[in-house]
Amino acid sequence: MPVLVLNSSLQPLSVIPERRLIVLLSKQKVTFVDESVRSLIEESIEARRLELERPVIVQLLANIRVPRVALQPSRANILLRDDETCQYCGKRSRDLTLDHIIPRSRGGTSTWENLVASCKYCNGKKGNRLLKEVNMRLLRPPRPLSQEYAGFFLLRYPKLREAYEEFILSAHGGSTRVLSA
Ligand SMILES: [Zn+2]
Repeated sequence: MPVLVLNSSLQPLSVIPERRLIVLLSKQKVTFVDESVRSLIEESIEARRLELERPVIVQLLANIRVPRVALQPSRANILLRDDETCQYCGKRSRDLTLDHIIPRSRGGTSTWENLVASCKYCNGKKGNRLLKEVNMRLLRPPRPLSQEYAGFFLLRYPKLREAYEEFILSAHGGSTRVLSA
């Protein structure tokens, strides 16, 4: 099970393998967001068999500055943004193509706003035409993925993402409790 690392501001930073967690712990760089996990993990590290069965989230003790990275509209990133779903008919598939909404032959560029995941059927149906010419529409307007986009990389780790969302909810919902403690 990979480990989610948050900045001390609670912004998701990266997902690391368990081995890396041991290093961060030994250097006292991180703390657990759920203290009840600590002893469990410390014991298993001692026993030299760290096998995490549930999502683990740690938080850096010191905030680090994160440069903003412009993500490229690569095939993998577009498929991730579009949840591996054809943006015309809504079919989920592992066998999707990328479609230029405004075809390249008509001046369309390879940008976040002009690329969507498309099944082969829809792509073939649309061909080199504009949406209005073939009476097709998009499920949603395509937007760029920014790094802030709910921790972009978390999309690849549904379990960690779920755990993170739960943690953020309880962190906000429990703020009065934290303050009065
Ligand atoms: Zn389709």
